[in-house]
Amino acid sequence: PELAALVAGGTVDVQDFPKPGIVFKDLMPFFGDGPAFKRVIDGIVTHYGPGSFDVVAGVEARGFVLAAAIAYATGVGVVPVRKAGKLPRPAFSATYALEYGEATLEVHEGAFVPGQRVLVVDDVLATGGTAGATMDLVEQAGGVVSGFTVLMELGFLKGRERLGPRTVHALLTV
Ligand code: 5GP
Repeated sequence: PELAALVAGGTVDVQDFPKPGIVFKDLMPFFGDGPAFKRVIDGIVTHYGPGSFDVVAGVEARGFVLAAAIAYATGVGVVPVRKAGKLPRPAFSATYALEYGEATLEVHEGAFVPGQRVLVVDDVLATGGTAGATMDLVEQAGGVVSGFTVLMELGFLKGRERLGPRTVHALLTV
């Protein structure tokens, strides 16, 4: 509850972004709040337990920020899950429908040592398309998803249902 309050306190609702009719949850004030950011990163690490994952995968771009902090706190590495066309080497690719439009994500082939346990992180779970595609890509690239965590879940979009049996850890559900 304390961590949920820190996320909620650092969130601003932006009307009609990135398209008319969408209310975008802007978490940048949270990211800019050092003590809140530290408490939340430490809380995520405590939730999973250091040693329960071997690497952290972050979804471009806000997921990168979270992934790097979690990785540094636990002494593991980071694998980026990138938007199409950004990765320099051959990559697995997944295209999916978004709350607004469509998107393609990519992960380098061989990004993981086979069987490596991967904690996947992003800032917001909306429809679940991004999360589902990311976890599929992690598995294609040889990783085993050991957890998926977000700061905020938009419960009314039912993304969790789309992810089937996969476990979602959300600090705050709105
Ligand atoms: P989904 O694929 O679950 O529909 O959308 C989740 C992805 O889009 C995440 O990568 C997340 O960063 C971004 N996203 C969608 N809606 C929002 C929102 O309201 N606020 C923020 N910060 N990100 C969002």
